[in-house]
Amino acid sequence: MVYSRDQMQLPQVPLSLYETGNGRIWVIGRIGYVYSVDIGSGEWMTYAGLHFQCETADGLQWFFSRSNQIAVSHDPRTGTWLQYGLKDGLIDRPKVIISSSHGLVWAAGSHGNRAAISVFDGKRWVRICHPEFAQTIEPNSVFEASGGTVWFGAGGQLLTGSPHAGGALQYKVETNETVRLLRHHAPPDFPYFITSMIETPDKSLWVGSTLLFRSDGTSQLHSIPDLPKGNTVDMVMDHQQTLWVAKENYGVCRQQGDLWRMFSTKDGLAGLLLSHLLVLRDGSILASSGSGISRFDGSTWTTYAYPEWFAMSKRESGLRQSDDGSIWLNYAEREMRTAQMVVNGTASFCTIRHRPETNPPETRITDCPKQVAQPGNSTVAWSGHDLWSSTPLGELQYSWRLDGGEWSAFSRETGRTFLNLESGRHELEVRARDRAFNIDPTPARVEFTVIPPVWRQPWFVALISVLTGSIVLLAWILIRTRERHLKERQAERERHLVEVDRLKTGFFTNISHELRTPLTVILGPLEMMLKTESDPEKKSVLAMMVKNARRVADLITQLLDLRKIEEGKVQINAVWGDLVPLVRDWTDSLQPLADSAGISCLLESVAECRGWFDEDKVHKIFTNLIANAIKYTAAGGEVRVRLSVEVDDCRAKTVEDLSAARLEGQEPFQPYKRRIKFVVEDTGAGISQEHLGHIFERFYRVSESSAAAGSGIGLNLTKELVDLLGGEIHVESPVHPDPERPGTRFTVSLPLGQRSEVRGQRSEVGGQKSEVGEQRSEVGGRKAESVEDFRPLNPLCPSGEEAPLILVVEDDEDIRNFITDGLGPDYRIETADNGAAGLQIAVEQVPDLIITDLMMPVMDGITLCRELK
Ligand code: ADP
Repeated sequence: MVYSRDQMQLPQVPLSLYETGNGRIWVIGRIGYVYSVDIGSGEWMTYAGLHFQCETADGLQWFFSRSNQIAVSHDPRTGTWLQYGLKDGLIDRPKVIISSSHGLVWAAGSHGNRAAISVFDGKRWVRICHPEFAQTIEPNSVFEASGGTVWFGAGGQLLTGSPHAGGALQYKVETNETVRLLRHHAPPDFPYFITSMIETPDKSLWVGSTLLFRSDGTSQLHSIPDLPKGNTVDMVMDHQQTLWVAKENYGVCRQQGDLWRMFSTKDGLAGLLLSHLLVLRDGSILASSGSGISRFDGSTWTTYAYPEWFAMSKRESGLRQSDDGSIWLNYAEREMRTAQMVVNGTASFCTIRHRPETNPPETRITDCPKQVAQPGNSTVAWSGHDLWSSTPLGELQYSWRLDGGEWSAFSRETGRTFLNLESGRHELEVRARDRAFNIDPTPARVEFTVIPPVWRQPWFVALISVLTGSIVLLAWILIRTRERHLKERQAERERHLVEVDRLKTGFFTNISHELRTPLTVILGPLEMMLKTESDPEKKSVLAMMVKNARRVADLITQLLDLRKIEEGKVQINAVWGDLVPLVRDWTDSLQPLADSAGISCLLESVAECRGWFDEDKVHKIFTNLIANAIKYTAAGGEVRVRLSVEVDDCRAKTVEDLSAARLEGQEPFQPYKRRIKFVVEDTGAGISQEHLGHIFERFYRVSESSAAAGSGIGLNLTKELVDLLGGEIHVESPVHPDPERPGTRFTVSLPLGQRSEVRGQRSEVGGQKSEVGEQRSEVGGRKAESVEDFRPLNPLCPSGEEAPLILVVEDDEDIRNFITDGLGPDYRIETADNGAAGLQIAVEQVPDLIITDLMMPVMDGITLCRELK
C-alpha cells in the first residue's frame, strides 16, 4: 500500500519509521512531529469486495460479495469464513441480508434480473423467486415487523408485462421454520416502488416512495402530506422511538407529533443526496450522503463525522453497525474517487470496518480574563487536543456551560464572548469532543470575576455613605444653627419685648409718679372746695373735676401697683374679717356709676364670709371687675355680682355649719380649705373667642370695645393680684343665649382659710388678729383704738411757742406748701426737702409729728423712719 503525503499529511522531511507490536507504524519527522499509523486491524479494516450486512444472534457476521455473487459468513471467534453461492441456493444478486428473530437469515435482491429472496435456516438456503413482483428488491425496504412477518419492497425498473407487479411482499415464518408468502400488497393499495419501509411501536407501517404513506393496522395507506416529495431513501427509529425519514434532495425529517422537523445542509448536513440513516448504539444518528457522512448528537449535526472523502452517494452503499460497536461503511462500485483511494485504488466495492477509538480529547482554556469590567462582557478562548491528533484540531468540537448551567450544543467555536454578565464570580467549563464523539470527561474549568458596577463597589458605597452622611450631618448642623439662630432671635425679640414692656411700664410709672404729685396738689384743694362750695352749679363742675382727677389718680395707682408687683415689692397684708359688708360697700360705691350708665347692679351674697384676706388687694380685684362690667355693658343692661364661699374638702361641712360652729365658740377653722368665690356677670357685648385668651395681657384691649375709654391695665393688674393671692381667675363669654347681649362672666376664686393658707407675708403682728370688718386694726402689738378714737392734734392749742411742732419732709415744693397751708396756723411747721435734712431737724427740734414723703432724693422716707427709730 502506498501512502502519499496529501493523504496522510506527512511532513515533507526525511522520516524515521518504526513498527510496534500492536500493528502501528510510528513516523518520526525531523521537526518534532510524531505520527502513528494504524496498519493493523485495530481501528480501521477494509474488506475489499465485501459488504457487511448483519450479525446473527449466534455472532456470525454476514457479508455478500458483488462480483462473486456469494454470501459470506464470518465467525470472528474462530476466524472461520464460509461462502455460499448459487449452487447453495442463493440468489444471484443479493442486495441485502437480514437476520430475523426466527433465527433465519434472509438475502433479498434479484435472481435472473427478477426479484427474489433466499432464506437460510442455518443449514441450507431456499431460493424464492418473484418474477411477477418486481425487477429487484430495495435493500432499505426489507425489515421484520413486530408480528414476525418479514417485508420486502419492490425496486428496480417497471415490469411492463406484469399487471400485478410492484408493492410489497409480506412473508410469514411457519413453526417448522418454513416461510410462506402471507400477502402481496400490490398497487394501487401500495405504491409500485417502495424505497424504504419500517414499523413504528404503535404498529403503524410506514411505506416510503416519492411520497410517504402510513397504514394504521389495515391495509389502507394514507399519504403524509406535510413532507416534501423526494425519494424516501431510508427510515429509522431512534432511541426515543422517534421516526426519522431521509428525503432525497431535501434532507432528514424528524417526526414531532403531527409535525415534522426538517434538517438540511444549513442545519449541518453534509449533503442532500442522501443514501442511508443509521442509529448508533449511543443514540446518535449517522446520515450518509454524496457529500459526506454527518452525525446528529441529539441537538446538532456534525457535518463530517468522517473525513469528507468518506462520502457515499449510491443507493447500494450504506452504513451498518455490529454488536461490538464497529461501524461498517459499505461502498458500492463506482463510488467516489476518494473512497476508491482508501481501497487500494482497485476494488471500489468494499466495506470499511471502523472501530472508533475511545480516547477522549483534552480541553484547555487558552484565554480568559481574571477580572472583567462593566458591563460584564467577557471573552474566553479555548482549544483542545486529541490523542495523536486523530481528530485534527480544526475538527474538534466544544461545548461549554456557565456557572453549572446547561451544556451548550457542541460546535467548532473556539471561544465565546459572554455579554452583560452579572457582577460577581463566574465559573466556565468547556469540554471537547472528537470525531468519534468521545467527550473529554474532565472539562477545562476557569473562574473569573465581573467587577460590580461602580455604584455597587464597596469603596463607592462607602464613599456615597460618607458623602450622604456628611450631607445629612451638614444639613443637620445647618438646621441646628438655623434653629439656634431663630431661637436666639426669638429670645432676643422676647428680651426686646420684655425690655420694651419694662421701659413702657417704667416710663408710665415714672410719668405716673410725676403726675401723681401735681394731681395730689390738684385733688386736695378740689375736694376741699367741693366740700365747702354751696353754689350747686359750681358744685357740679367741681364734682366732675374731682371725679376725673380721681380717675387719673386711679390709673396712676394701678400703674404704680403693677410696677411694684413686678419688682416683687408688693406684700400681702392679710387681716381677719368678714368680707361681706366690705363687698356691699364696694358695690354700693359703684352704684352711682352704674346708675349714671343706666345699668342695674345686683349683689347676691352669703350672709357672712369670714377669714384672712388682704382687703386692699381684694378690693382692687372686685372693683376692677365690677367697674369693667358696668363699663362694657350698654344702658338697660344688668350686672350681677355673686359672692359665695367654697369648701374644698369632701369632709367639709356646709358654710352654715362652719358659721354655726364659730357662733358656738368652737374653733371655726377646721382643716378645710375654703375659698371665696366671686362672680361678676354682665349682659354686655361679650368678648369674642380670639380675644378671650389675651385679655389678661398687659395693655391688651379689644378693638371693638375700644369705644369705651381704657388703658388695658385693669385686667392685667387684677390677674397679677389674683396670682399673688394664690387664687384663680377665669373668663367666659358668651354666657347668655341672646346674641345681642351675650355677656361676660369673670369668676375669681381666692383662698380664705387659716392665716397660713394665705400666701406671702402677712401684716398680722404679734399673733393678734385685726378685724377689718369691725374697722379695727392692730399695729405694733398694741391694740389700736377705733377710728373714732383718733382725734386731730388739738387744733385749739394756742399758736406760737406752745403749738405742736409738725415736721413736713417732702421734696415737692407744691405739696410741701399744700400740706403746710392745710395745717395752717394751728401748728408750728418745720419743713425739709429730703430725708437727711428732715432727720437733722427732727433730731434738733424733736417735733410732735413728722409727715414724710417716701420717694425723695438724698434720703427716702423709709430710711428716715428707720434712722428716727
Ligand atoms: P380697659 O378696660 O382699661 O380697656 P382692662 O384690662 O380692664 O382694660 O380690660 C381689657 C379689655 O378687656 C378691655 O379693653 C375690654 O375690651 C375687655 N373687657 C374687660 N372686661 C369686659 C367685660 N366685662 N365685657 C366686655 N369686655 C370686657
